[in-house]
Amino acid sequence: MGNGPGNQTTLIIPCSGIGKVHGLIGREATYLVTEDLAPDETATLCLALLVKGDPDAVASVQSHTCITIDGCAKACAQKNVELAGGRVGKAIQVAEALRNFRGAKPGTATALTDDGWNIAREIAKSVTCEAAILHDQEGVVQ
Ligand code: SF4
Repeated sequence: MGNGPGNQTTLIIPCSGIGKVHGLIGREATYLVTEDLAPDETATLCLALLVKGDPDAVASVQSHTCITIDGCAKACAQKNVELAGGRVGKAIQVAEALRNFRGAKPGTATALTDDGWNIAREIAKSVTCEAAILHDQEGVVQ
């Protein structure tokens, strides 16, 4: 994470899915939110740190509202945030979102097509809205 997010920052946590386009869409959507759409209100952290029990990562998910972006229904990011004692304000699955883009060819595990970027942008916009709603509703989570 590195930036030392303030208490009112929403953490956007993608799964670490590789091998399919779903994980890449989730990661790119995360960066679109944390770097472009809402850099002052959101941050991300590495799911692997959480999985291995890194104390700083665990403390972060326990003290911030989290939005998880998982590639598929196995929901690895959501489950690991919850296992670490964090609270998931909104859980998004790319596979589910893709159903709204029938016929789209989003790309591969390593590169998104224009379709793939459009889908990542739609997910990012939706995550940004959810983060704003969670922020207004809940403020600081202790
Ligand atoms: S949620 Fe699905 S795509 Fe993501 S890491 Fe887990 S199994 Fe892989």
